[in-house]
Amino acid sequence: MVCYTVGYMPTGQKDYYDVLGVPRDASAQDLKKAYRKLAMEFHPDRNPSDDAHEKFKEVNRAYEVLSDQEKRSLYDRFGHAGVEGAGGAGPQGFDGFQTFDGFGDIFDAFFGGGQRGRRGRRGPARGSDLRYNLRLTFEEAVFGTEKEIEYNRLERCDRCAGKGAEPGTDLQTCPECNGAGEIRRAQQSIFGQFVNVAACGRCQGEGRIVTNPCSQCRGSGRERKPRRIQVKVPAGVDDGTQIRLTGEGEAGARGGEAGVLYVVLQVAAHERFERVDDHIVLELPVNIAQAALGASVTIPTLDGEMQFEIPAGTQSAEDFILRSKGVPHLRGGGRGDMVIRVTVVTPEDLDDEQRALLEQLAAMMGTPVLPKKGKGFFERIRDAVAG
Ligand SMILES: [Zn+2]
Ligand SMILES: [Zn+2]
Repeated sequence: MVCYTVGYMPTGQKDYYDVLGVPRDASAQDLKKAYRKLAMEFHPDRNPSDDAHEKFKEVNRAYEVLSDQEKRSLYDRFGHAGVEGAGGAGPQGFDGFQTFDGFGDIFDAFFGGGQRGRRGRRGPARGSDLRYNLRLTFEEAVFGTEKEIEYNRLERCDRCAGKGAEPGTDLQTCPECNGAGEIRRAQQSIFGQFVNVAACGRCQGEGRIVTNPCSQCRGSGRERKPRRIQVKVPAGVDDGTQIRLTGEGEAGARGGEAGVLYVVLQVAAHERFERVDDHIVLELPVNIAQAALGASVTIPTLDGEMQFEIPAGTQSAEDFILRSKGVPHLRGGGRGDMVIRVTVVTPEDLDDEQRALLEQLAAMMGTPVLPKKGKGFFERIRDAVAG
């Protein structure tokens, strides 16, 4: 049963539980989880959409209240008015609901009076949000792509147009709430009399019930159907980026607005490149001759192969930066950089000629050289002591 209080409804603010998408009996853990997810999603640094900032503030405000035991309890009982402090409701003065002087008058004036006016005000409930995990290759994430995805969701039943009643038959007024969709109960509180309003359990707050259910959806007004859509993935997305598609979630019951489909991107690792933010790192192994003398080598980049000049005297772990050869920024123009990290690889399997040349080099550099490979450390020690 959905319970809500009248105190906060007229302020035009969204229910904090709805904002976080959690049930009213959500645990502290659930709240935290929901908050983290939403804060990540709407953080203005990550989400380019126009309303992200507002949403982000809303989510923070909701969590601030609901994560505090005392504020949450006040909110549960008195709604936004209970947690806004004096004057918080502004010139509209909806705080007046707290005092309940002439409560009924205000209530009726606001909603136009009568049961009928009050009923549809919440409208049919919005459908559930869905999540779809979309795998992308490294390059698809870097340069963007368009993907067709298919998933199952509840859609409005065609036969009854979402009403749930067999075509030609009508819905009946709920006998439990007489069509109001809600049950009101007066309660005493420290602020005076307080009216608690709960959605009617019989009709789920809709005020009407189906007596002759649609044969196709059995009265639910919805049916599960496969859906195919094209998803545009912008360039520069990364593993874990979410794309929010409004209206692509499940249809609401009885013609309610559809929920949101969250497409969560899972980006595969690349064979050669490592991604660090919008930069690309390439490990480039070179041999000692290339490092010492310099060399021109072919390297892979995001834009295809290119020649890269290793300067003479390059040290191991030295980095070379190719500006704007990285990942396009998701917001704004430009690209990150490419970092070429050189690793000098010491040869392990020298043939005789190579070894002779290196020994010659070593002699020129005045470097003492170990006897020819073949005997291990222990053998050499044993040879020495056997002397
Ligand atoms: Zn139907
Ligand atoms: Zn009812």
